[in-house]
Amino acid sequence: MPEKRRLQVYNTLTHQKENFIPLLESEQAEFVGMYSCGPTVYRSPTIGNYRAFFTADLIRNVLKYICGYPVKAVMNLTDVGHLTDDGDHGEDKLEKGAKREGISAREVAKKYEEEFFNGLEKMHIERFDVMPKATDHIQQQIEMIQALEEKGYTYTIPNDGIYMDSSKVREYGKLMGPNYKKRIENLNAGERVEMGGKKNATDFALWKFSPTQEKRQMERDSPRGIGFPGWHIECSAMSSEYLGKRFDLHHGGADHITVHHPNEIAQSESAFGYDEKHPRVNYRVHNQFLQVDGGKMGKSLGNAYTLEDLEAKGYSPLDLRYFYFMAQYANFQNFTRDALDQAKSTRKNLQKKIEKAVKELSLDPNSFSLPTTLQDLIKELPTQETTILAIDEALKDDFNTPKLIALLPTLVNSPTIEQLKVVLWLDQYILKIWLFEDNTPSSSEISEIPAEIMDLANQRATAKAEKNYTLADELRNQIQEKGYDIKDIPGGFEIKKV
Ligand SMILES: [Zn+2]
Repeated sequence: MPEKRRLQVYNTLTHQKENFIPLLESEQAEFVGMYSCGPTVYRSPTIGNYRAFFTADLIRNVLKYICGYPVKAVMNLTDVGHLTDDGDHGEDKLEKGAKREGISAREVAKKYEEEFFNGLEKMHIERFDVMPKATDHIQQQIEMIQALEEKGYTYTIPNDGIYMDSSKVREYGKLMGPNYKKRIENLNAGERVEMGGKKNATDFALWKFSPTQEKRQMERDSPRGIGFPGWHIECSAMSSEYLGKRFDLHHGGADHITVHHPNEIAQSESAFGYDEKHPRVNYRVHNQFLQVDGGKMGKSLGNAYTLEDLEAKGYSPLDLRYFYFMAQYANFQNFTRDALDQAKSTRKNLQKKIEKAVKELSLDPNSFSLPTTLQDLIKELPTQETTILAIDEALKDDFNTPKLIALLPTLVNSPTIEQLKVVLWLDQYILKIWLFEDNTPSSSEISEIPAEIMDLANQRATAKAEKNYTLADELRNQIQEKGYDIKDIPGGFEIKKV
């Protein structure tokens, strides 16, 4: 048996591809901890947002099923404090959404939270272990701000907020790249007009005071006055709450490399103390932007497509899922109708070939029992089955999904039983594009389930994700009392009328 291959990841922190060595190998960590910056729930997620959720899912699945680590994955939901500007100007996105839709900020959050969870389910993105909301963690955020105040990192701008003094932060902005110091100097030289009382252009709000003349919908009392937290502090507070002061991997979109993540690092390392040998997070991973028709995607450009837009045009969310596999997460990916059509027809062709092979071999794929990790699957297969090693190699090469899907044609053209087993495993744990069509619930089955039951089922999934099993069981009972049966399947749940 050759030595187990190591996962390699491109680390934005060091600007190079590195071996992934989790804390549990050198310390008494119990799990591989990963945190991914989730959605701001004020409007429908775009297919650009879904690329980030897809990447988080991919990373988690590779760590869990390919590498076989015990993983604790956290993705937050921002439901307060994210301004329309990544800096400290503009309106809170939730309050803006409330004005747009004529409902309260809380209703906006609830509506888009539900839409987000439904979208994850459609995309076969299994829920993350903890999915905390910023509004449920205001106290932790206030405590962290107090710690930063005590250590002398902050200053107050009257009638505005409490700010972090980035000039006091060690290596502030290092994530931006080797020339980060020059970039920050340029920012400070160029932004004098926009400073509005800030000492440095890169200083940022930890707590914003509510304006005295107007009442905000979402505001909280704090020792320093009524207001709401800055956007960045929630990720420092919630990641440390659930994963500890140090953990393995922090993921987000490339748009976070210049503001949100440098600020998150600044807050956390200043509050918890900086250690030369042990950064707070060893691996900082970013997925690159999704472009549309070769250019920028944007609401004002009319090309910020949502899942619903694609469904209305006759695509399955799983066609989009396959499309994401076609590019490596760290590269730009160009979304075009042609590319999505290509994804759709490739998926269909793979399904057809598998259907044919299943018939020819007279197999019942449902009778296969599959192990959870790739290592265990390798043990079950004859040694000449080498494609599985190529799968391992592709995914451990910085999550190289184009390399992975290039292996599929070999696996499905006149496959052996073993090869079909490999494809089934891959589809169950990594691809999740339902290549064995039998697994796909028909749309009529889905639509028969009343909204009330779906609502209970979603609440149960949330309870489970939050490890509130008593509530989850109670919700299951309620569902059963109403005449439905609920079963957990990879990526979500399945409901049937009894
Ligand atoms: Zn974040």
